[in-house]
Amino acid sequence: MKKLLLLSLLSPFGLFAQPVKELILKETANSQSAYAQWYQWLHAHPELSREEKNTAAYLKKEVKEMGYTVTDSLGLQSFAAVLQNGKGPIILYRTDMDGLPVKEETGLSFASQAQGEKDGQPVSVMHACGHDIHMSTWLGIARLMARLRKHWSGTLILLAQSAEEIGQGARAILASPAFQRLPRADWQLAIHDHAGLPAGQAGFCDGYAMASVDMMNITIYGKGGHGAAPQQTIDPVLLSAQYITAIQSIVSRNLSSNDPAVITVGAVNGGTAGNIIPDKVELKLTIRSFSPETRQFIFSRLKTIGNNLAEAAGLPAEKWPDYNLLDMSIKPVYNDPALGEKLRTVLSREISDSSYTLVKPVMIGEDFGEYSQTPEKIPSYILWIGTVAPEKKGSAELPSLHTSRFAPDYSRTLPVAIRSVSTCLVQLFHSKR
Ligand SMILES: [Zn+2]
Ligand SMILES: [Zn+2]
Repeated sequence: MKKLLLLSLLSPFGLFAQPVKELILKETANSQSAYAQWYQWLHAHPELSREEKNTAAYLKKEVKEMGYTVTDSLGLQSFAAVLQNGKGPIILYRTDMDGLPVKEETGLSFASQAQGEKDGQPVSVMHACGHDIHMSTWLGIARLMARLRKHWSGTLILLAQSAEEIGQGARAILASPAFQRLPRADWQLAIHDHAGLPAGQAGFCDGYAMASVDMMNITIYGKGGHGAAPQQTIDPVLLSAQYITAIQSIVSRNLSSNDPAVITVGAVNGGTAGNIIPDKVELKLTIRSFSPETRQFIFSRLKTIGNNLAEAAGLPAEKWPDYNLLDMSIKPVYNDPALGEKLRTVLSREISDSSYTLVKPVMIGEDFGEYSQTPEKIPSYILWIGTVAPEKKGSAELPSLHTSRFAPDYSRTLPVAIRSVSTCLVQLFHSKR
């Protein structure tokens, strides 16, 4: 009897479980107006990557009032809000803060009118990737975890990251001495909103969930001349056409169909007139893959094919193509399967089996992957969170992420997302890595 009582006191899911569950439910149900206020302000005031000064100031003001200690100098506009709450695990939860150069066309009363500058040109700015959903969820979690501090112990590091869309924010944070001085997390979590799942439902994808992203510029050289005398030239336009076609065999013929990858040539620039064969053609590519081996293999095939085609065209080695990998590479997102299992168990037990679903990997990138690929290999997980109004589910009209009409159902998404993530956090604080 004594032993049983002791066990239930110690068990995270014993005596404490019921009141916490009810407190979380009550708090998220009663906080609708705060969630709406945060979301609408953040949605109306998007800022471009690296420029999120006002956004960071807004978030900092809120979390300081909740009792968090803010650490700055994490690179660009990034900062951390830390709640030290006794002994126990250390958990990092990250939001991103940047908007996109997209002109909003949602027709919402709080639609963004914001302007920014990209490559010296004025552009409209919009939270078209739902980072405003991420930030509002982050604030909701911050408030809930502070109010529930009697029910968990450990250290919560809430990370607010700059420049996710350009793949620079996570790397800058990891390289910053201020981040290195923060306690090392036992687990790392984040969410990304999903334009296909019902509002608030979590989507799990264990293992590689999002692809590594690389951007490469390739210059194909030739020997220019008169368009009427191609025999006196080496035509880089023809060579580019052969190259673009040939590299599509890398995915279709060199890689296993169980090893997904994408090679897209998104821009071809060369030449000025129909009767002039130019000296060169510039190609712009994006390359998506999951494993580091596949990524390296693709790079090597791109070179082998390019160099051999150039040689076959009669070009000397110094005129073989230039392959310029841009400094925009981000690592794949690897979701720790054991952590995924743990979170699903919590959600099933504390909320419901339908509070989550399983989803397939996608070829889009997210720089959250950088946090798990440090030498410490900290178990990390990014959850998808559905944003689609239940009545719209299945509609072919749903705008996707990064489009001007992306309008998540925030009022139904936020309370559920905040409840699910906070429930997972409280239970993780009661468990051992
Ligand atoms: Zn995005
Ligand atoms: Zn995003």
